[in-house]
Amino acid sequence: MNLKKIIDLHVHTAGLGLGDSGCFVTPKLRRNWRYKIYLRAFGVREEELRSAGDRLAFRRISDGVAASQVVAGAVVLALDGVMDGRGELDLTRTEVYIPNDFVAAETANYPNLFFGASVNPHRCDALERLEQAVELGAVLLKWLPAIQGIDPADEALIPFYEKLKALDLPLLTHTGDERSFTRSESALGDPQRLHLPLSLGVKVIAAHAATTGTNGGERNMERLLRMFPTYPTLYADISSLTQLNKLFYLPRLLKQDAVLDRLVYGTDFPLISTALVSPWYYAWRIPMREMARIGSLSNPWDRDVELKMALSVPAEVFFRGKELLKLSRAGTGLAGAAAAAGPQEQIRAASP
Ligand SMILES: [Zn+2]
Repeated sequence: MNLKKIIDLHVHTAGLGLGDSGCFVTPKLRRNWRYKIYLRAFGVREEELRSAGDRLAFRRISDGVAASQVVAGAVVLALDGVMDGRGELDLTRTEVYIPNDFVAAETANYPNLFFGASVNPHRCDALERLEQAVELGAVLLKWLPAIQGIDPADEALIPFYEKLKALDLPLLTHTGDERSFTRSESALGDPQRLHLPLSLGVKVIAAHAATTGTNGGERNMERLLRMFPTYPTLYADISSLTQLNKLFYLPRLLKQDAVLDRLVYGTDFPLISTALVSPWYYAWRIPMREMARIGSLSNPWDRDVELKMALSVPAEVFFRGKELLKLSRAGTGLAGAAAAAGPQEQIRAASP
């Protein structure tokens, strides 16, 4: 039986603009301590990127996923920039730009990588770009509203949402506070701004389940949780939920029966490889020997899956991404993934 069937739908790449990738990072963000930790977590040095180009990061991700015992594929996310008043990319206000063409071309080189597109709906040619992204094999669309200057509740976006629905492309959008950048508009990460796309029937995946931050005097996660019974196309990913700054969110989330069958697996790689995540932060939940065993796993994806399972994430959650994503290339990478001896009986039992 092939046990490698888990898809990680939330993986970031590094792009410094090297090797004609078209990527862009402001010098200010590049000097930021967070960015340095981020690159280190990738296992790439800036010198290596300089000689091999930004595409090296895709090789590293693909190799890491290939070495995982349980994760078969990863969705690597592009990141569109901020738009000016004419709907053109505004580089003076964009801190990071990872173009769709680059991510589409690189993910196509690896059977275990999938293309997560990013289109700012304020682009003058946003709808065409959505269509192009799907032609290039996009399995979802990623937004970071607080960074990209997108208000999901803006009624001007209705044609964009209708196109997303027609293309059956899920929208993975950041909810909760965003602190990886030097400036951010936290109000745009309020999950209550997602009523509009949900009422139009768009599949929305609330990235990070709205962990961290408050709006309207209330925690963002609480504002998200009460939306699940109303909207059958609402999902939330469990990426970043094992971070040190989020220890109490996962137990809260898992207590909600209405939410369990809408959770979907993601890692937020490379952040799972930083000091922000460790089984040792869970001495109050996980037996010592189990923490040591998980901590000793060298593969970041195996460590992440096992840690989340030890924290009682139901096995079904890990397999949900495959149903949810627009996997036009389904079968290519997954069918070819080598059978592996799964470390968790639960994964075996739940494996579809
Ligand atoms: Zn992320």
